[in-house]
Formats: sequence, C-alpha cells, structure tokens
Amino acid sequence: MIPFLDLKKITEKHSVEILEAINTVILSGWYLNGEACNRFEQHYANYIGTKYAIGVANGLDALRLILRAYIEIGQIQEGDEVIVPANTYIASILAITDNRLIPIFVEPDFNTLQIDPKKIEASITKRTKAIMIVHLYGRCSYTPLISDLCLKYNLKLIEDNAQAHGCLFNNRKTGSIGEASGHSFYPGKNLGAFGDAGAVTTNDPVIAEAVRTLANYGSKTKYIFEYQGLNSRLDEVQAAILDVKLKYLDEDIDFRRRVAYRYINEIKNSKIIIPPLSDWKSHVFHLFPCFTKSRDKFQNYLTSNGIQTLIHYPVPPHKQSCYKQYNNLHFPITERIHKEELSLPISPVLSEEDVSEIIQIINRW
Ligand SMILES: *Cc1c(COP(=O)(O)O)cnc(C)c1O
Repeated sequence: MIPFLDLKKITEKHSVEILEAINTVILSGWYLNGEACNRFEQHYANYIGTKYAIGVANGLDALRLILRAYIEIGQIQEGDEVIVPANTYIASILAITDNRLIPIFVEPDFNTLQIDPKKIEASITKRTKAIMIVHLYGRCSYTPLISDLCLKYNLKLIEDNAQAHGCLFNNRKTGSIGEASGHSFYPGKNLGAFGDAGAVTTNDPVIAEAVRTLANYGSKTKYIFEYQGLNSRLDEVQAAILDVKLKYLDEDIDFRRRVAYRYINEIKNSKIIIPPLSDWKSHVFHLFPCFTKSRDKFQNYLTSNGIQTLIHYPVPPHKQSCYKQYNNLHFPITERIHKEELSLPISPVLSEEDVSEIIQIINRW
C-alpha cells in the first residue's frame, strides 16, 4: 500500500536531531513559556516575515484568538460579519462562530479552489469587519483585489495559513500579508509537531500583545487578569521539535513541488481534472487535489490498486449538522468541489517509484 502520508518516515529523516532537542527540553526542567518557545517564535517570525509570532496550542485557537483580540480591543463587535470561503475546512468557520461573529460564505473559483475575489464585494454589508482568506491545499489565495476591497470598506484581512507555511505571493510569504494570520502545526501539516500546536503572526504590536495575553488566561502579570482569557500555549517540547523541522521546511516544499510537477505533467486521463497553476512559488502542495465526476469509484479503484487517498472534504461547512442555520444555503461550486475532490498522496518522503506507479495506475483508469 502506498500510504497517503507516512509521518513515521518523515520523522525518521531528522529523528536524531529531533530526539536531541526533546531531550534538552526534558532535562532542562522547564516546560512552558520558556526559551524553546521564544526561540521558535523568533525563527518562525523571521521565516514568515512578520515582527511577531506567538506560539499557541493549535491552529483553531490561533484563529479564535485573532478574532477575540479584535473584539477585546473594540475593533470588532459581537454580531459583526466575517467573509470566508465557503469551501474551507471547518476550523475557519468555528473560529468565527465561537466569537459570536457571523460567517458570510463566498464561493471559490473552481480553477484555483480559492475564494473568488470577484464575488467578495457583493457580500460586503455595513456589518462586515473582516475578510478571512484561507490558503487552502497550500495554494496562495491572496490577490491585490482583496486588499483594494479591505481599503475601500475598511476591513481587516486575516489569513488562515494552516495549510500554507512557506507559500509566496510574489516575494512575500503568506501569513505576512494580512493584519494577522493563524498557523497550524497539526502533525499532518507541512510543518507538523508531535501533537497539537499553532501560531499567530502579525506586524501589529497591539494584536500581538492581546493574543499573547488572551492565550495566557488573559494575564500579562502573574495572577493579574485583564481579560477572561483561555489557556492556549505552545509547549516547550513542541516548540523545540518545530524549531528543528522549520530548518528543513523549504526543502520539503521543493520536494512536494517536484511530485506535483510530475502529477501535473504526466497524469493524462480525460476523466480527471487537475487545476491549472502558473506560479509554482505560490503553492506549497500541502495537498494535491484532483477532480472527477465519479470520485467514489475512482477512490475505490485506487484503493484496490494499493494507493491510499483522502477526500478534502466530503461535506462543506454550510451542510454540516452543527450549522443547521446554514443548511438551506446553496453554493454550487463549493458543493461540486466536495462531491468531486480526491487528494492524491504527496509528501517529502514519497519515492520516485511510488509517484511513477501512482501516475501509471491513474492513467490506466
Ligand atoms: C488544520 C487547519 C486548521 C486548524 O488547525 P488545528 O491545528 O488542527 O486546530 C484551520 N484551518 C485550516 C484550513 C486547516 O487546514
């Protein structure tokens, strides 16, 4: 079986260095809010190109904390609206509704799978306060048109960069373009911890401080509480692991791009659609989605030929039972994506032979 993602193999590549880093933390006797976290935050902020990076417990919290920070400093109020792509992963939406804000779903463009910038303006109302873009599958969803709208309507631009560490728009990394960005280091992400982890990046010192305070029970000074905060911190052990893995992120991304390049150039099957791509730097291929009308049959075929695939995602947020109030909404492009999408194996440890085999089997379908 060719696995969808072989995390064990990914870890083995740098296991000596990682174990050493873990050991150092364990033997130091200091496990939270310490040097390892500071060091990683600094390295990650440098990597993304922002003044601040704040380590938090996971990617969902990163996004929740950003919106919560804007509420605490009085720039967003309960009941305000946040524009978000309809085809995102549920976490983007949960971060909005958890703060009692209203998600306004906007359809993606089927050619990019990203929010369709031309469809945003029609969804802006007096209550719109922010646009949350999501670089889904690892592909940059930013276009200057989005900044134009933010300027025109005085909206904040927030990035969900959970799937796109290292992705570029021209010479800027995603995660440094908006006012604040949420990052996830869930084990399966391109930069993954050994458990949950996340970060917020921003150039805004007020947001940076509010997020850091909110994530630490709402406290800047021990036992003095400014906000009704939460406990969402990045463990020292996870930070030390991420600091090792960050050094290899760019080469891992290049490897992913080489796999993607082969899929794009060598998969030749008229039943399968692969979205076009012109700028390779603007995609880090966290996932490699392809599309076909008979997705479930295609998936079964691949499984019976020893290739593991996953669907990202089978049900869009507005059709989930946790969002009954949106179940009657209809987004044809989003629904098509969820019906036809299948993600092929892609990772920094997929061998040339496995890629060749996957391509041959797909071309024979
Ligand atoms: C993974 C992910 C998140 C949430 O990250 P967690 O660390 O799992 O909480 C948010 N948004 C998107 C698009 C994701 O893929």
